[in-house]
Amino acid sequence: MKRVMALFFSVSILLLQLSIGVYAGETRDKFDIEYDGKVHQYTSNVVTLNIDGKAVATGEMPAIIIDSRTLVPAREVFESAGFNAKVDWNGEKQEVYISYNDQKIVLKIGSNIAFVNNNPITLDVPAKLIRDTSQKNPKTMIPLRFVTENLGYKIEWNQSSYTASITSLSQNPEVPVEETPEVPIEEIKNGDELDELNSDKANRLLPTELATNPVTWSSIIAPVEQSAKSVISAQNNSLVSITSVEYKSDSRSFSIQASGPISFVENTFMESDSKYVVDIYNANKVAGNATYSDNPIVTAVRTGQQEDRDGKKVTRVVFDLKSTSASYDLSISGDRKTLNFVMKDNNLSKVHLGQNEKGDYIRLTGTSAPEVTAFRLSNPDRIVFDMERTVSLVGKQTKNDTLGQYILSMRTDQFKTSTARVVVETDGHADYSITKIDNVTTLIQMHEPTYDNIKYENTTIPIITLENVGSRINLEGITYEDKYNTKKYIINLPGNYEDVFGTGNMHIDDSIISQIEIKKNNSGNTSLVIHSKSVYVYRLEADNENLYIKAYKPKEIYSKIVVIDTGHGGKDPGASANGYYEKDLNLAITHYLKEYLDADSSIKVYYTRLDDTFIELVARTDFANEVEADFLISIHNNALGETANGTETIYFKDADRSGLNSNELAAILQQNIVNAVGLKNRGIKDNNSLSILRRSNMPAAIVEVGFVTSKIDIAKISDKNVQKNAAKAIYNSIVQVFAEYPTRR
Ligand SMILES: [Zn+2]
Repeated sequence: MKRVMALFFSVSILLLQLSIGVYAGETRDKFDIEYDGKVHQYTSNVVTLNIDGKAVATGEMPAIIIDSRTLVPAREVFESAGFNAKVDWNGEKQEVYISYNDQKIVLKIGSNIAFVNNNPITLDVPAKLIRDTSQKNPKTMIPLRFVTENLGYKIEWNQSSYTASITSLSQNPEVPVEETPEVPIEEIKNGDELDELNSDKANRLLPTELATNPVTWSSIIAPVEQSAKSVISAQNNSLVSITSVEYKSDSRSFSIQASGPISFVENTFMESDSKYVVDIYNANKVAGNATYSDNPIVTAVRTGQQEDRDGKKVTRVVFDLKSTSASYDLSISGDRKTLNFVMKDNNLSKVHLGQNEKGDYIRLTGTSAPEVTAFRLSNPDRIVFDMERTVSLVGKQTKNDTLGQYILSMRTDQFKTSTARVVVETDGHADYSITKIDNVTTLIQMHEPTYDNIKYENTTIPIITLENVGSRINLEGITYEDKYNTKKYIINLPGNYEDVFGTGNMHIDDSIISQIEIKKNNSGNTSLVIHSKSVYVYRLEADNENLYIKAYKPKEIYSKIVVIDTGHGGKDPGASANGYYEKDLNLAITHYLKEYLDADSSIKVYYTRLDDTFIELVARTDFANEVEADFLISIHNNALGETANGTETIYFKDADRSGLNSNELAAILQQNIVNAVGLKNRGIKDNNSLSILRRSNMPAAIVEVGFVTSKIDIAKISDKNVQKNAAKAIYNSIVQVFAEYPTRR
């Protein structure tokens, strides 16, 4: 009942406010704004907002007065710390939803009817999409007084300073506050536990500056209703040319480019014909047709020209679809010159970074609540949140100095064609939890770590101790993942031990380990992810009380260590001829070689790459030096004129070593490969200028199995059986080298 009363009260204030002129006071910022399809010069004053005496930032669009009413950017103002309301936008319905405590307000762009808790209320000025013409995108502007009062705030207007002063519930004695019991933060169970955690608490105390300066990134392209007819009202329209229709693989979208602002678009999804038809009014066709053989969704794009009943020119763009099961979105850019036809399973439309009583949080809004997977990177500590099969409408955004409790910076981008990504850099102390909070929103809440019963010491040897588990953990059920390429070592415990170890990120940062994550893995069991600073081998031991994880150098554990370097990769294809890239041939041989080596547990092998990634030459030798390999073999194929052919092995002419020398390694490899592959024997060659040989501390050889440029050779080296034979020959060479030159460890 009280709420209804408050509502009437606010409406009457609203009517009084109507009569106040807007031309009083000094005119400050003159700028152009676009709304209702027209550009207007803004000649009135901009409005200053404060809540409980603190200024409210409005972002790039100031609070302005239209028809004697103050309109403010919805998100910036109502999601600011003073209000902490939740603002959502439905582009299809052109509706803004503001929720705060139990109040829910719905405003529709251009409509004089708003709904407060489902009750219709008449407005004298509707919500509008208003664009400052110096900015790219319009802002959703909503009437300040109407919304603040219906959220239960008090608002006072100062005409001389053009200031709206808002007083919140707790400081406003006129509005009775219902008694709500203090809700303790669930993580904190007792004082003792809290003290123990102090060692790994965030460096900053709540609230930090983020509380008053939240970060919101919204769609830079607004999704448009699929079945609707109009994209933007047809005012001010003039004839435009459709200049191109292009596929952008990074965003899985087709962009239709026009010479000027597009006025009116009609689009139809014809499921039975597997077509998507876009009619652009007041447009002339310039772009032609195109077919796409390898596009995941569209087989062809056709453009045609016609006229409507009124003789208006209409360009029709037809997308022939491969599948009708995926979903599609048509959207328009802020300048209305680009239509984007996006294929998606989900769209990320908003990324919001704010702070609540638990700490920093990130709210991700999509067409449906985003499915988020996360992983951690160290040096500096970053948490990567990936949304698979999601197209980001937010674009590429970066915010440094977010000044959160833990979060130091945040960025977002379309990581891969199908993966939207948000990355935060933290101070290394934060733990996080991911929860879907409604149909369209996923919340990532950062909070204090809860880990316990885990200790790290580095006196004589680095040891991680898991305490008080005794015989509870079955050692044989523990699995170990050696992710040496990223220097991550994962220990998966056979069960969920959250009750013992909690979760979180243990910040270490000594010479060996940067951090240890204690988390629940995808199968619901407890995992320890050790972010190591260099390549180590982590071994487990146990006694009746504790479990110990000890770090060793590879040489302390393994008697035979080899580094297999696969030449080139990623953006560096190596030699390319006869329809083949050297990088692929090299990798194929490595994969066969790995099969042989995997079956031989007496040899520890470290690979520089096992997929198509680019690795700097320096990083390859640094890696081999770090693991202190007994020798290094780099797998390549050759290139020269068409007539050059055959197998050769290159080595660094090193000063005489006590055991194996590079030339001896090269000779064994060369003989075995020639015998197995059957190409011309070009012999072994010394070359002291090649980085991979020169910079490695151990004997090293580059095998050039054959010439990509030779018709004779390529027929062989592209053949799977020959690749397998070459791999077998390299494996036999490794065994032979260790037999002839034992490491004696
Ligand atoms: Zn090469």
